[in-house]
Amino acid sequence: MNAAVVTVGDELLAGRTTNTNATWLCERLADRGVTVERVTTVPDRIDDISSVVGDYSAAYDAVLVTGGLGPTHDDLTMEAIAATFGRDLETDETALEWLEEHGYSRSDLTTGTADLPAGSRPLHNDAGVAPGAVLENVYVLPGVPTEMRAMFETVAEEFTGTRVYRETVVADEPESALLDRLETLNREFDVSVGSYPGESVRLELSGPDEETVAAAAAWLRERVETVEES
Ligand code: ATP
Ligand code: MG
Repeated sequence: MNAAVVTVGDELLAGRTTNTNATWLCERLADRGVTVERVTTVPDRIDDISSVVGDYSAAYDAVLVTGGLGPTHDDLTMEAIAATFGRDLETDETALEWLEEHGYSRSDLTTGTADLPAGSRPLHNDAGVAPGAVLENVYVLPGVPTEMRAMFETVAEEFTGTRVYRETVVADEPESALLDRLETLNREFDVSVGSYPGESVRLELSGPDEETVAAAAAWLRERVETVEES
């Protein structure tokens, strides 16, 4: 399974908020064996949200959208998703009933709180108020990280893929010096190798077979100057 992540919010584009939602979702999806093909941040504008989500919905198995769920004027995500699929926004009775059962009275809720694109499946918000939704292959989650994480976990099992095994080797050599051994490694083992230079070079080996990945890592550890892994 592959997926795209769309994070919505002017404050993300202005650098005022760090996009931890994207990182967290990518990690959880990768853990579940899902390949994330795109991460895109869009401003709080209906046309931008709608066109990106429409393109990604057609191109990938699933799209996860976070941010802009609340009922305030700058929360336009539900309207945009409705537009993507040519639906109206409708008050979702199931979502309202769930909120009532959890201590909110209809009269206290801001108008529009439970408005979702017609025909969507509501996702309840255990850590906040605004519900999320699933429409076709698009999952709409809140922007507040605690709410987003709790809601993702309620649908996590819907994201599946081939389990990928990983090993890390940290090399205390310049990246350019490692090329010959990485080439041999690539030729001899069915693993993907990512090379991430910093103070030392982090080599990430991954593949669908646990033993092959372990053997490749052992082979490499014998042939590079290693440092303590952190
Ligand atoms: P609310 O219902 O509270 O308005 P929301 O679902 O509409 O929430 P936003 O209004 O987009 O979400 O964002 C609420 C807050 O969540 C932001 O001020 C920011 O602190 C945080 N947030 C939003 N998007 C992200 C993100 N991608 N990564 C980390 N934090 C985020
Ligand atoms: Mg908001």
